[in-house]
Amino acid sequence: MKKLFTLFFLISVTLSAQLNIETLTGKALANSYGYHMLEKVCDLAGGRLMGTPQNELGFEILKKHLSDNGLSSYYEEFTSPIWYRGEDKVVMTTPCKKELRASALAYSSPAKIERGEVVYVLSGYEVDYEGIDVSGKIVVISQTRPKGREEMLRGEAIKIAFNKGAVAALFINEATGGKVLCGVGNFKGNPLQIPAFSLTFEEGSKLKRLLENGEKVVMDITSNSFVKTGVSKNLVCTFEGTKREKIVIGAHFDSWDLGDGAADNGHGSAVIFEAAVLLNQLGIKPERTIEFVWFNGEETGLWGSKKYVEQHKNDSIFAMFNLDMPGKVNGYNVMGFDHLMPAIKEITAKSGTYDLSTLMSTAWTNSDHMFFYV
Ligand SMILES: [Zn+2]
Repeated sequence: MKKLFTLFFLISVTLSAQLNIETLTGKALANSYGYHMLEKVCDLAGGRLMGTPQNELGFEILKKHLSDNGLSSYYEEFTSPIWYRGEDKVVMTTPCKKELRASALAYSSPAKIERGEVVYVLSGYEVDYEGIDVSGKIVVISQTRPKGREEMLRGEAIKIAFNKGAVAALFINEATGGKVLCGVGNFKGNPLQIPAFSLTFEEGSKLKRLLENGEKVVMDITSNSFVKTGVSKNLVCTFEGTKREKIVIGAHFDSWDLGDGAADNGHGSAVIFEAAVLLNQLGIKPERTIEFVWFNGEETGLWGSKKYVEQHKNDSIFAMFNLDMPGKVNGYNVMGFDHLMPAIKEITAKSGTYDLSTLMSTAWTNSDHMFFYV
């Protein structure tokens, strides 16, 4: 599938270059530069949360692979809130002792809670607290949205819990299989008012069961995670065009730290890497300048793309392609820019036997295209 996307992009950006499509197809299908780069990044650096040494190392590996393929790239630094995961512990002490598999949500801050009583507050909406005293207690929140209710972000649920007097919030992950969820407690980088964690579905359900059966549940929570303002960077590789007008092709390179970040967003990072390598090999001189950008800090609040847009506010940016987990590509979303549809149809018509027939125009904002878009 990665091959398809590489091909797709090469076709997209080189239509005006009048290159032989078979040449492009052959190059895109016959090479695995992206795979090899990503293998090294995932195996040697691992998860790449912004602000960590793994993030730094991953960028260096990517930069070296670009250099080895004849491409120069440069960092663009920016300052933003950075969240550091510390040693966090959520330990149930009553009715039996068990350290839970818990993962702090980003912007959770240092806390120490001893013998905190635990209360189940359904999905954590304002109405769910009626008749329940949570003052000084730890709340367990289901992430299931009840029928007919508006979707509520975790940050809002944390705010409600804090306003009701709770001292910590524990979210039950909806995915099964012992997984904890990585996520943010807010998008602004402000330290959370109370520590917030994700629990596995299985352990969270056990707590819910105990509490619904009227059992007393008590916990100790220690959190050493913290937020601090610091300097991070995006990586940029530019193909100068004959025009100053620019097309930005971006993918976030940072990932959560509990996995290796191969899918989210190793996929996208590898695809734009390979597209850059092949453009270079093919000697394509684009009309518009093409800027490949590996953004940082997407997972913790879209920091890299926000700062890039600020730093390049005087640039003439014609279009932005965002590749966030492009592993199952089946078409294009023009995000409400309906006038692009004819051009997109022209591109997808070149996709041969690949099915790129899903064409959408649905605006959404939760990835790096957001600040280019609004
Ligand atoms: Zn992503």
